[in-house]
Amino acid sequence: MADSPPAAAHPSMTPCNVCILGAGCIGLASARTLAERVQERDYAQQVKITIVAEKFHPHTTSNVAAGIWEPYDVKTDPVEQGERWSMETLRWMRSTFQSDPNTARQEMGIFPCVLHDCHSKDDGDTSRKRDPSPDQFPVLERLGCDVVRMTDDELENYRAYGNVSCFKLQTMIADTSRLLPWLTRECERYGVTFRMQTVKRLEDLGTEFDAVINCCGLSAKSLLGDEDMFPARGQVVRVRAPWVSQAEVVLASDGTLTYVIPQVDCVVLGGFYQRGNWSEEVSDEETAAILQRCVALHPRLAQAPVLRVQAGLRPGRTSGMRLEAEQLVLHRQTSSSATTSGSSGAAECVSTGQRSRSDDASLFVVHNYGHAGCGVTVHRGCALDAARLMLDWLDKAFSATEQGLG
Ligand SMILES: Cc1cc2nc3c(=O)[nH]c(=O)nc-3n(C[C@H](O)[C@H](O)[C@H](O)COP(=O)(O)OP(=O)(O)OC[C@H]3O[C@@H](n4cnc5c(N)ncnc54)[C@H](O)[C@@H]3O)c2cc1C
Repeated sequence: MADSPPAAAHPSMTPCNVCILGAGCIGLASARTLAERVQERDYAQQVKITIVAEKFHPHTTSNVAAGIWEPYDVKTDPVEQGERWSMETLRWMRSTFQSDPNTARQEMGIFPCVLHDCHSKDDGDTSRKRDPSPDQFPVLERLGCDVVRMTDDELENYRAYGNVSCFKLQTMIADTSRLLPWLTRECERYGVTFRMQTVKRLEDLGTEFDAVINCCGLSAKSLLGDEDMFPARGQVVRVRAPWVSQAEVVLASDGTLTYVIPQVDCVVLGGFYQRGNWSEEVSDEETAAILQRCVALHPRLAQAPVLRVQAGLRPGRTSGMRLEAEQLVLHRQTSSSATTSGSSGAAECVSTGQRSRSDDASLFVVHNYGHAGCGVTVHRGCALDAARLMLDWLDKAFSATEQGLG
């Protein structure tokens, strides 16, 4: 990844303040991609990008993730959109690793891994199972992923879990304990600035910013009133077990979920998928259950020292991942807002710092949230689309400014 030369200024352009709300894998990837594109477009002197977040690495949900690429929980309408985001992310992870394996692994946390995925063929209690469908094989095969069904001999290892169907997938892992710091360094390199702040209402950002990429994850429920959002709680135990190099996910007939997923310098053991559970507290009972299930799968894990136990809420959304533009109309007097989804209107970029308005104004927002149990799996593809939507708006805003419109 070569440094881009500094951008030449467009003297006629007025500065534009863009906020990225959120510093999980989605926010950081969106900020980095936008900053890179802004520099390529020669907008770097005119566009100031600030990441605003309540929590940063290592305190986000993204830090809980095992970071394995597997699109089991990618829900989009149309379905092809999520498949494209997943595949763009997989291709990026693969090419990143192929071009410089050492840097990819050590600095970005990105490395290849074989995943053994076994899932029950029984219907059972679906509320405890992964959502939406546990059998990913047909989808992965159609997408041209490197996936094969297990042989009868290989299946023997998983007979204890009931009537299971298993496949082997050549996949990639992005260890977020390295990916997030790398994305942060990348953002800094492009001149992105950071601010720790809790935002009460999205509209409040309109006093300072011209546009926002909204990557607030599960908080979309309280921040936007998006009633489609729901938590899918998980708990994981990070252990030191350097001999583990293969990932395994087993969804048994009794509904229990067991997984062992290697990271750069630890192994993630899980897990749970508890839809509707809002608790971020760690449960000792669940830790014991995770360790017991993983040791049953790999007895040697009984000797692995426990490094950390974490609980996290996957940002689920009944209507699927949300990636779209919206023009929020801000009413200065009442501080309320009306929305015009999909509006192409590009407001004039006013000034850096506090925006001054005499009348109603608008805030351009690109939403990028609701990535459920697959935020790492789609982060790159979603960042490309979010940055594209923001760049289209910036192009229009700058051309309106140049023509004296807006
Ligand atoms: C146990 C577990 C295992 C997982 N394993 C995997 C896996 O193997 N592979 C995979 O692809 N995915 C996995 N996931 C899912 C993945 O973690 C999420 O999809 C992903 O983290 C979502 O990223 P995000 O950036 O949208 O959200 P987050 O990481 O939650 O980031 C949201 C950001 O927005 C900020 N924010 C929110 N509200 C406000 C506000 N009002 N004001 C200011 N800032 C705000 C937060 O502070 C934070 O910085 C797992 C999740 C869990 C819980």
